[in-house]
Amino acid sequence: MNTLRLASLDVEKNKRTVITVGNVKVGKDFMVIAGPCSVESEEQTITTAQRVKEAGANMLRGGAFKPRTSPYDFQGLGLQGLKILEKAKRETGLPVVTEVTDPRDVSWVCEYADVLQVGTRNMQNFSLLKELGKVDRPVLLKRGMYSTLKEWLSCAEYILSEGNPSVILCERGIRTFETYTRNTLDLSIVPSVKEVSHLPIIVDPSHGTGRLSLIEPMSLAAMAAGADGIMVEVHYNPCEALCDKDQAMPPDIFANMMQKLNALQSYMDKINNGRRDRN
Ligand code: PEP
Ligand code: MN
Repeated sequence: MNTLRLASLDVEKNKRTVITVGNVKVGKDFMVIAGPCSVESEEQTITTAQRVKEAGANMLRGGAFKPRTSPYDFQGLGLQGLKILEKAKRETGLPVVTEVTDPRDVSWVCEYADVLQVGTRNMQNFSLLKELGKVDRPVLLKRGMYSTLKEWLSCAEYILSEGNPSVILCERGIRTFETYTRNTLDLSIVPSVKEVSHLPIIVDPSHGTGRLSLIEPMSLAAMAAGADGIMVEVHYNPCEALCDKDQAMPPDIFANMMQKLNALQSYMDKINNGRRDRN
């Protein structure tokens, strides 16, 4: 990993990046990002935002630009979606995480987003990464579905080397021969990242599994593996979701999962003597 001048961990100093977003310290507190796959309407986004906030989520997610496999699928509401997210933030106080897909959109999407997401399909979109390196917003960099740890960290390096120090990695599953799950969620990447990089890493069990029934166990496992947070797709009415319906978690199930995560967190604090980071 010696080409990673900025993303690698200095093992002796063991100094880790902590990124402040609103009142959350990413890399220190366990963070939960929740919300719909895509912004579909004001009612859907704001109701979902209120429900996830009540359950204890720290940030709201929602896509206004959706990179879809088929050009005929719902592509997102664009600017209108960003305005809905802005309103949801005003009403709930939750910082907004949203995806940007085109380098030309980066500067103006910053006006609506607290964290800019790079999706799996764009992990190696180097012109997008360079543009993100020039802005004053944290970047949530998802792992490319066919990428190794080194390739992923090299993409983080593109952002860091342009001057933006705030990169949060997000494991979202990789392609394997398994078809039961949508992807294979690689939780071993979490302690692996901690061994070689100072950057925070969170886990997305929604895209990582594609199955509602697997999201809670994989969220708990992510916390146990030492992740700095999770990102979960929650929809106030999953049957109506325009995107990723099968993995959309209803708000009451999300609230129940949050209670279990809190209980696990207390237990882990005890066994780690108050330190989340065991490295
Ligand atoms: C998303 O989180 O909205 C998304 C499209 O995920 P991914 O890029 O991991 O498929
Ligand atoms: Mn989705």
